[in-house]
Amino acid sequence: MASSSAQPVFRFAPSPNGRLHLGHALSALTNERFAARMGGRLLLRIEDIDRERCTPALVQALLDDLAWLGVRFEPEVRRQSEHIAGYAAALALLQARDLVYPCFCSRQEVRAAVATQEATSGRPWHVDPDGAPLYPGTCRACDREVAAARIAAGEPHVLRLAMDRAIAEVGDVAFSVIDADGQAKTITAQPARWGDVVLARRDVPTSYHLAVVLDDALQGVTHVVRGRDLEAATDIHVVLQYLLGLPTPLYHFHELLTDGSGRKLAKSRGSESLADLRERGVTAAQIRQRLGFDGGGASADAEPAQPGRRGDQ
Ligand code: GLU
Repeated sequence: MASSSAQPVFRFAPSPNGRLHLGHALSALTNERFAARMGGRLLLRIEDIDRERCTPALVQALLDDLAWLGVRFEPEVRRQSEHIAGYAAALALLQARDLVYPCFCSRQEVRAAVATQEATSGRPWHVDPDGAPLYPGTCRACDREVAAARIAAGEPHVLRLAMDRAIAEVGDVAFSVIDADGQAKTITAQPARWGDVVLARRDVPTSYHLAVVLDDALQGVTHVVRGRDLEAATDIHVVLQYLLGLPTPLYHFHELLTDGSGRKLAKSRGSESLADLRERGVTAAQIRQRLGFDGGGASADAEPAQPGRRGDQ
């Protein structure tokens, strides 16, 4: 489809670290419906920065599942693993502005530091919206030369965003969330609740947060439609957009699907995949119907059985 600056751009951005399940289908179909109603383009992005878990076979399976489901994307598919140098360049910009610092702590060391803080204060340590303890800041004040020497010696490390410095730079930031009918409301981001998030993993010079923000901007995405499990993380994304001078898209967060026992669908828990359903003789039309996408009804959201977290997609 010809593009114009006014044309909305949507994207579905799965991570091929397991087979797609109904939660992914809901996300893809919600994007498809928004794009159809708004005359928008629909892009596919494969978020495969995790080189161990994202195998070529899973990428192919993902493409096959989406083709079977009948969601049509524009032919050019962006694969994050092919753009690592671009993420590293953005990181270097943040590093040059002293907004990012190396952290050498293992998970165990973070846990131990948190336990010490709790013992000293007598209060539970802060957790982020995903329930993980906030990074206690052990490496934040590490001497630069010492850190450089540790890196030169090959010590594994991640890069963290210095959230307090980032917030001081960007001030209060907000983003717009649209409902199923396209009505917008403004949300004030609360990035401090995430602490010093990781922007570069040990094995690759990016993280989900950095890559998603850069790619949405590079692909001209105007509307990010994704599950509610990523709503809180949008606070981080908006801060990064401000820091990097990137536009903030509109957001829509769809409800999540849970399994029969009320637990979130998750690849790691072996939720029935689209491939399993297909093998059982379920058709793509039945999946669409089951998720509320059979006739393009009044709402852009399906009516899931129960809301819940989407899980580790
Ligand atoms: N790749 C992410 C996931 O599969 C989604 C990214 C996004 O929609 O922003 O959970």
